[in-house]
Amino acid sequence: MIVVLFGPPGSGKGTQAGLLTGALGVPHISTGELLRAEAAAGTPLGRQVASMLAAGELVPDELIERVLERRLRAPDAERGAILDGYPRTVPQARALDALLAASGRRVDVVVALDVDFRTLIGRLERRAAEQHRPDDNPASIAERLREYHELTEPVLDHYRQQGVPVLVVDGSGDVDAVHRRIVEALESALGHR
Ligand code: AMP
Repeated sequence: MIVVLFGPPGSGKGTQAGLLTGALGVPHISTGELLRAEAAAGTPLGRQVASMLAAGELVPDELIERVLERRLRAPDAERGAILDGYPRTVPQARALDALLAASGRRVDVVVALDVDFRTLIGRLERRAAEQHRPDDNPASIAERLREYHELTEPVLDHYRQQGVPVLVVDGSGDVDAVHRRIVEALESALGHR
């Protein structure tokens, strides 16, 4: 079961992926978290990406593809994964398709969280105050929203063209309500597995 959790920065992907992990029994893989951990540990990769993370710039496709591939090979991801923050570009989506096809798998479903712009900005500002992520500053937030619009939104059409179900779920309101909407959408699209 490969679920892509899709949505703009601040749409609640990380929170919802964490809740879905329990419901689906597959790990939550956040490429942003993987990169932040590398940067915090000061690995060569982490040093390479630290300034891009802080500026809210996407890291190069080849680099993030390697990070994702390594993580998907781990034994806990054999039964599937909830992907949060990947793919973020059409080339990344193609790379993921090829990677999964090599082990006879595919993206089963895309859950796209829909949140209006003002709510997103409010959530990102609140997270900036609470979590001190280096990229939750006004310039980086603007850059990440611009990238989302230009480079990431086209990924939805890529999946629609492939015939992968794309479930658009209202991501506004409280965390539990959004979680329930996601679970209901998955159940009605895929049935109980
Ligand atoms: P996130 O935690 O998903 O908001 O990601 C934080 C940052 O990590 C992004 O602003 C990018 O700098 C980097 N990043 C995470 N995932 C990707 C990806 N799939 N492609 C490129 N950069 C990424």
